Amino acid sequence: MVLNAQKAEASASTSTFYKIDVTNCIKCYNCEVVASHSINIGIVEYPYWINGSFYGNYRIYINPPQEYLDDLDETIAGCPMECISKSTHQKRR
Ligand code: SF4
Repeated sequence: MVLNAQKAEASASTSTFYKIDVTNCIKCYNCEVVASHSINIGIVEYPYWINGSFYGNYRIYINPPQEYLDDLDETIAGCPMECISKSTHQKRR
């Protein structure tokens, strides 16, 4: 119970950023297969977050729904080119 309260407090003060850097992407489609709820790859496109943003070669998805997190961790582990990562940042007040 205390642990859940601590987790809730931590998530209220932090944001989690999921990033795809397509610079070295080989379009193997693994990420789209594992996390089709969050990632799309068109015929001419590199992978992008369905509900995310584009910044040059980077695609950013902030605070995805809790139910997607296991799949997103699997995409990070399964990307053969290490294009996908996540990081946690303090929210601005
Ligand atoms: S798993 Fe990695 S290399 Fe494969 S399409 Fe996704 S981002 Fe590109």
